[in-house]
Amino acid sequence: MNIVLLGAPGAGKGTQAALMVEKYGLAHVSTGDLLRAAVNEGTELGLEAKGFMDAGELVPDSLVISLIKERLAAPDASKGVIFDGFPRNTLQAVALSAEFDLMGEKIDAALAIQLDAEVIVKRLSERRCCRDCGYIGSTQDPVCPKCGGEMYQRDDDMPDTIRNRLDVYEKSTAPLIDYYRGAEVLYEIDGDKHPDEVFQSIQDILG
Ligand code: AMP
Repeated sequence: MNIVLLGAPGAGKGTQAALMVEKYGLAHVSTGDLLRAAVNEGTELGLEAKGFMDAGELVPDSLVISLIKERLAAPDASKGVIFDGFPRNTLQAVALSAEFDLMGEKIDAALAIQLDAEVIVKRLSERRCCRDCGYIGSTQDPVCPKCGGEMYQRDDDMPDTIRNRLDVYEKSTAPLIDYYRGAEVLYEIDGDKHPDEVFQSIQDILG
């Protein structure tokens, strides 16, 4: 089973992906996480990507698509993949379909988590992430409730960058909702609920 998670930054894609990994045993492929790891390791890709990420802009498609191809070649991807934060525009969606055609795979569902812009801005400005295990929490978590690690604020969760990321989402990524509706794999989910309730809606769809 291969799933695409759609939704604005802060809609809850990462949180739901973690729950889905546990329940369905799929590989979690987050281009944001892969890019942040490259930035932290100081690789050539990381150096190229950092400026775009700090500004809330999309990293060039060619970089992200080669990152995805490499990730899909890893053994764990054969058990099925949850794409989180990819594709981000139509070109990436077409590239993914083409790669999947070559691999004999398909997207089984695109889950679009819907949330109002005001709620998103509030969530993102209060979001804190664990440096050690990647847990996504909030200012309410002084330390990571899962592993006790240090919680930090992502550089791109600052007010100006948040606004730009939302603009980029509306312009480049939101059109993918129609793209996947056209492919008859789209499911829309209300994201303005407790994560467990959102996850229940996902399980109702995926079984
Ligand atoms: P995310 O963790 O998904 O919010 O991504 C953080 C940042 O990484 C984004 O604001 C972009 O700069 C970059 N990024 C992540 N995924 C992609 C993608 N599929 N295409 C281009 N840039 C991406």
